[in-house]
Amino acid sequence: MHQRKINSFFQKLSEAIPAPVTELIHRNHFELLIAVILSAQATDKSVNKVTPELFGQYPEPQDFVEAGKESILATIKTIGLAKTKSANIIKTCQILVDSYDGEIPQTREELEKLPGVGRKTANVILNTAFGVPVIAVDTHVFRVANRTGLTNGKNPLQVEEQLMQVVPEKWKKDAHHFLVLHGRYVCKAKAPMCEQCPTVKECEYPDKKEGGEEKKRVRKKDHSKLKKR
Ligand code: SF4
Repeated sequence: MHQRKINSFFQKLSEAIPAPVTELIHRNHFELLIAVILSAQATDKSVNKVTPELFGQYPEPQDFVEAGKESILATIKTIGLAKTKSANIIKTCQILVDSYDGEIPQTREELEKLPGVGRKTANVILNTAFGVPVIAVDTHVFRVANRTGLTNGKNPLQVEEQLMQVVPEKWKKDAHHFLVLHGRYVCKAKAPMCEQCPTVKECEYPDKKEGGEEKKRVRKKDHSKLKKR
């Protein structure tokens, strides 16, 4: 995609998505980290169903360590890979207590050493908690970036590297959330809603369905409604 088109693509997303923020419920950086670990191969909706109770019972890393993995597992059992995730969360909390005084480290290197935290999760934390202009590539970002012609990467790392090269500085900090929310509510995996898409003109997807975009395009208000579902 041409640079001017890319700028226009993000300009239009920014108009359609006035609040490019995570939909994971959290009150602080620690809760965000736990929620992001839980969200691996699970929907934000399923994570949000268990975290209010989880964080209510165990507000600090030390509380998780004292509770132990069986208690955590009992609370998060409805989420996929609950057993592995509860074990990783306990180990991560132990490291936070032992090495970081219960705080969240702020470098990718340190974050990636925490059990359950890979490159994508580290990028989400750096971006969402600390405002670093990095772009985490999850399933939505991967699909939307490649489908629209922003990138042509074969794996998440390639897509991330290409996005970091082509996304204008102005949009880098919010690019992850723009692409996630666009992918979740409009440019869906199985049935992209091209006729209501704000970026249909810029998109280079060969199978996009054009027509009627002016009157049907998702308006700012409608997009916010969609996000609440
Ligand atoms: S036009 Fe269709 S394929 Fe392209 S970004 Fe919009 S919804 Fe996705």
